[in-house]
Amino acid sequence: MSSENAAAEAVAAPSRFTPKLMIVAGGAVLLLVGVLAGLLVWLWPQPPAKTKVKAVHHAAAPASAAASAAEPQAAEPVLAAASAPDDDPPEPPEPPRAAPPVRLAEVPIDRLQRRLGEVLGAKGAVQTGQAGELRVLARSDRMQPVSHAHRPVVAASDASAPEHWSYGGMSGPRVWGRLKREYSACAVGQRQSPIDIRDGIALDLEPVQFDYRPGSFSVIDTGYTVQVDVAAGNAIEVNGRRYALQQFHFHRPSEERIDGRQFEMDVHLVHRDAEGRMAVVAVLLERGAAQPLLQTVWNNLPLEKHEAVAARAPLDPGQLLPADRRYYTYMGSMTTPPCTEGVLWLVMQQPVTVSARQIDTFSRLYPMNARPIQRAAGRMIKQSN
Ligand SMILES: [Zn+2]
Repeated sequence: MSSENAAAEAVAAPSRFTPKLMIVAGGAVLLLVGVLAGLLVWLWPQPPAKTKVKAVHHAAAPASAAASAAEPQAAEPVLAAASAPDDDPPEPPEPPRAAPPVRLAEVPIDRLQRRLGEVLGAKGAVQTGQAGELRVLARSDRMQPVSHAHRPVVAASDASAPEHWSYGGMSGPRVWGRLKREYSACAVGQRQSPIDIRDGIALDLEPVQFDYRPGSFSVIDTGYTVQVDVAAGNAIEVNGRRYALQQFHFHRPSEERIDGRQFEMDVHLVHRDAEGRMAVVAVLLERGAAQPLLQTVWNNLPLEKHEAVAARAPLDPGQLLPADRRYYTYMGSMTTPPCTEGVLWLVMQQPVTVSARQIDTFSRLYPMNARPIQRAAGRMIKQSN
């Protein structure tokens, strides 16, 4: 319905009234209808009213209803005037029949405009389903992506996701997916990590090119693991992509299993390419000779959690790698919340040894920080010949 129709309906009605009344009331009401209808009638989806008085009532009603959604107390006087029924006289508090037009006349247009402005800017009115509030919804949608855009940044690291999850008890891996909406992939994801690696297809896989070099580093106890942040300049190249090394961290026992076998520990070297794709190199750690790089990291363990401590000596991440660089590869996820998928996993086939004492040192901090095995669910696993 348009404002022209409303005005036409109002003009078409005068047969019930005397010409004198039309001169006095009709002119004033038509002016009011012309201005109010242009502002307000679009809010009201119902058919036009049949008389002048009803037309005014219906035009005013949506403004008060919309305003009440955002500001209930202030809207009450207008709502009372607008909802006073013409056809139900017996209600005790109802004012005389002549009252509604007079009270409506007390509502200045600028006040209505201000109300409209409040409603259009009011966040709380979005869900009420009024026709005019579609505009509010569109405005709210425009603002939503801003907050969402920050989430991938928070989810950047395999082991530095937000708190409130744990490896056991009430916030353990079984309930990660229900702790926060952002963690839902932990529960419903179909390509989760870690997995028990078996039945891989043996192929001549392209070797991973490790472009690692000695550089500065800092150690942080994240509350979930010991993590080493490395200086820029380390990277791998695989499948035609270059991924920069961001950090590495440890799990005990190993998260990956090979044909069902679990290892004492593992280390995850977390990489990211220019487009944000993640690639994690996993090295399995078994009991044996001491590992020099691991000792360098342990020697720099911080006294406090969550505070990165810069080490004095440089560190070469390449010392963590086994001599044999053959690997398994599959697509999986981060193994900590939010369990983001699309992660390229490169699991070294040959384990690296660490001493019993080095394992004990880590166990003092984190005796168990491994996510349980996830379903492989028919995923392709490839392995180097
Ligand atoms: Zn990890």
